[in-house]
Amino acid sequence: MSFVVAIDGPAGTGKGTITKLIAQELGLVNIDTGAMYRCITLKGIRQGINCLERKEELIQIAKDINIYIENHNGNQQTFLEGEDVTTEIRSKEVSDFVSQLSSIPEIREIVVNLSRNIAEGKDVIMEGRDITTVVFPNAQVKIYLDADIEERAKRRFKENQEKGIEGSYEQVLENVKMRDYNDIHKPVGALKVAEDAVVVDTTKMTIEEVKEKVKEVILERRK
Ligand code: C5P
Repeated sequence: MSFVVAIDGPAGTGKGTITKLIAQELGLVNIDTGAMYRCITLKGIRQGINCLERKEELIQIAKDINIYIENHNGNQQTFLEGEDVTTEIRSKEVSDFVSQLSSIPEIREIVVNLSRNIAEGKDVIMEGRDITTVVFPNAQVKIYLDADIEERAKRRFKENQEKGIEGSYEQVLENVKMRDYNDIHKPVGALKVAEDAVVVDTTKMTIEEVKEKVKEVILERRK
């Protein structure tokens, strides 16, 4: 049976960074499920469809889409219909619409199935919002990462600057607040703490400290 580490939490808690480092150190395949919602959002935006009033067209895009994920030593590269969109899916436009699009239950079902298929037969560390509760409720390891909202917005702003993604700190804070609200209030797959998840508040922790804490939980369960 494959080994699954499931990690959930809101934006800016360090999920992406931590899963990448741990995947490298423990030889796990890193799967970022947010990237799949972001690909569907990007395709919608490119076709001029960026509102929930056009839900049926967005569902059709999700049904037809071809998303391919490559993993090299913990680094995920995301391809949309053969095009490398790893950076473009992080744009402000995509971040502004993705949490609305991901509230559509039909789209969630497609991404949940895709996530399970990608993980099939592999030892994985998968991160998102519903991994511990919906995608892999029986995962051997379940972690919920959290942090204060200002700290999360600060981290995301810094990360955006490093990647050359536009937007002020205030805009990033507003986006994180809006996504938190949408993610918590989804009719299906809402962001919540699974009963048996280990909760780590990362507000005052360094990346290294969070990584060590999460690794400790994984190694304990892997024995
Ligand atoms: O993790 P990331 O910030 O890239 O995710 C983008 C958005 O995709 C989130 O704000 C959330 O609305 C949605 N998402 C989700 N379920 C997941 C992963 C991401 O609803 N498992």
